[in-house]
Amino acid sequence: MTILTVAQTKQWMEEINKRMKEHKEQLTELDQAIGDGDHGINMARGFSEVINKIADTEYDTVADVLKSAAMTLTAKVGGASGPLYGTAFLKMSMALQNKDVNQQNFQAAMEAALEGIKMRGKAEFGEKTMYDVWYQVTAFLKSEKVEDWQEMMEVCQATLEDTREMVATKGRASYLNERSIGHIDPGSMSSFYIFEALVAVLEV
Ligand code: ADP
Ligand code: MG
Ligand code: MG
Repeated sequence: MTILTVAQTKQWMEEINKRMKEHKEQLTELDQAIGDGDHGINMARGFSEVINKIADTEYDTVADVLKSAAMTLTAKVGGASGPLYGTAFLKMSMALQNKDVNQQNFQAAMEAALEGIKMRGKAEFGEKTMYDVWYQVTAFLKSEKVEDWQEMMEVCQATLEDTREMVATKGRASYLNERSIGHIDPGSMSSFYIFEALVAVLEV
């Protein structure tokens, strides 16, 4: 059964864009605490560029929409998060090439995205980055609860809360070392919005 169509993938990007705009200040504040304070700006700009790009383009496949989003994020976002999200969506797109997006293929695409972030950021689980959230969501999708979207969001929420007590060992926040403790990772927060947006589309 198809779980994600071309129209829904475009909608997913729109729902992400909406959330990044809405939470721009929050993402910036999180990044002010342990980074350089541009994560809200990066995300809001990046996804509004994605919308500009995909809104008036006709796409035949989900993979093509994701590829467009990936290229735009990599090209238009200055910070680390641009190429990281760009790689995630590009790997997802490659995994879905010539495939219907059913549960199994989507799960494989998420695994590919996760590998992409790992490769690009050299991140491991527990380093206080967006990788933590993608890791747990991918693990959840592999479990038998697979379509309990509410529970998936609870996993997301718990994971981003967990980043608060972690010491950052990748990205700008790692410059702060132990002083990064006590703050939620900005990229984990934006990843939460990416999955919240997906659930908003899938639940309709
Ligand atoms: P920058 O740090 O370049 O200003 P952003 O502020 O837009 O970029 O994004 C910061 C977020 O990117 C972090 O909160 C973290 O989640 C993620 N990040 C940074 N470096 C890495 C990395 N090496 N691996 C995985 N994620 C990373
Ligand atoms: Mg930053
Ligand atoms: Mg920056």
